Amino acid sequence: MTMTRVADFHVNYTAFLDADGTLMRDQVLPTFSLDSAVLKPLYRQMVLTRTFDNKAVALQRTGRLGTYGSCLGQEAVGVGLGAALNPDDVLVPSFREQAAQIMHGSRMEDILLYWGGDERGSQMQSTPQSQDFPICVPVGTQAAHAVGVARAIQLRGEKRAVVCAMGDGATSKGDIYEAMNFAGAWKLPILFYIANNQWAISVPREEQTSCQTLAQKAIAGGFEGEQVDGNDLLAVHDRCKKSLNRIRNGEGPHLIEAITYRLNDHTTADDATRYREDKAVAAHWKRDPIVRLRNHLVNLECWTKQDEEKAIQDAARAVEDAVQNYMHMKPQPVESMFDHLYAELPEAYQHQRAHAIACAAAKAAEE
Ligand SMILES: [Mg+2]
Repeated sequence: MTMTRVADFHVNYTAFLDADGTLMRDQVLPTFSLDSAVLKPLYRQMVLTRTFDNKAVALQRTGRLGTYGSCLGQEAVGVGLGAALNPDDVLVPSFREQAAQIMHGSRMEDILLYWGGDERGSQMQSTPQSQDFPICVPVGTQAAHAVGVARAIQLRGEKRAVVCAMGDGATSKGDIYEAMNFAGAWKLPILFYIANNQWAISVPREEQTSCQTLAQKAIAGGFEGEQVDGNDLLAVHDRCKKSLNRIRNGEGPHLIEAITYRLNDHTTADDATRYREDKAVAAHWKRDPIVRLRNHLVNLECWTKQDEEKAIQDAARAVEDAVQNYMHMKPQPVESMFDHLYAELPEAYQHQRAHAIACAAAKAAEE
């Protein structure tokens, strides 16, 4: 018997910045990696993301927001992608893509509305040009929607890309495998974008799957997957840009696994100290994507203490404006809770809707 090797696969990994933000000059660097006009706005965007994220957690802790999923530590994953999107690309997020959503046109107050339990946070009124999807909490279920959008774009012959964003936990769900199979079989214009933050709620990456990489899951779908240092803005942005360009040019689907670390709890309903050591988290703070890019900017001699102070002040002001808009939004009418799940409201709910309206009117009359 002769055994013949019939297939070979590989998974590449890209990083340009060391953990301390020093450029690895032995690599072929993207031209923008030395261009302060490109890098400074991206740095400011990461600062804005963190400021927004910290504020959202504070709003939840003081009873002014519902459960919220923090993206602390994952700012480069979101900003690197957000800066690579064209306005008419379609972002189909899960629930930790705040940075990319904001860069693609979502208002911060809309994201707060979503987590505040207000239907208007899912209406995506601020991003009509992009047709982005709202936040999706049920893990992995957005993948079938994303593939459907990609198929529609393909049938229309448009040069647009879809990004199906997810966490590492989603890659263990059947929905994702099915979506990737469709994408490969139909050569759809879609990027599967995994923020591998090492935790599926309380399950560590190594217990969740025995796969050596999550990127290799693309191979079974018939397309390539790659890894990138998700805390290196330069690497994330470069790989996303190249991937999305190929996708828009009709070269079929692609997968990027951005390796990062969730520095906060899974959501504000979680307490990560119950299942992981503080010292493990502290080690990952040393790879903070914001500090790394700041060190790189300082090394390029294009970032000063004054620049830093201004970036922090500008971000605080923008976030505070969004919070004020959110807090002063007039509440929705009570019947709105019935108005978005069905195209036509089933009879069983019609009398409940009428009852809710009557109760609200009676309460208003009492006041
Ligand atoms: Mg995760």
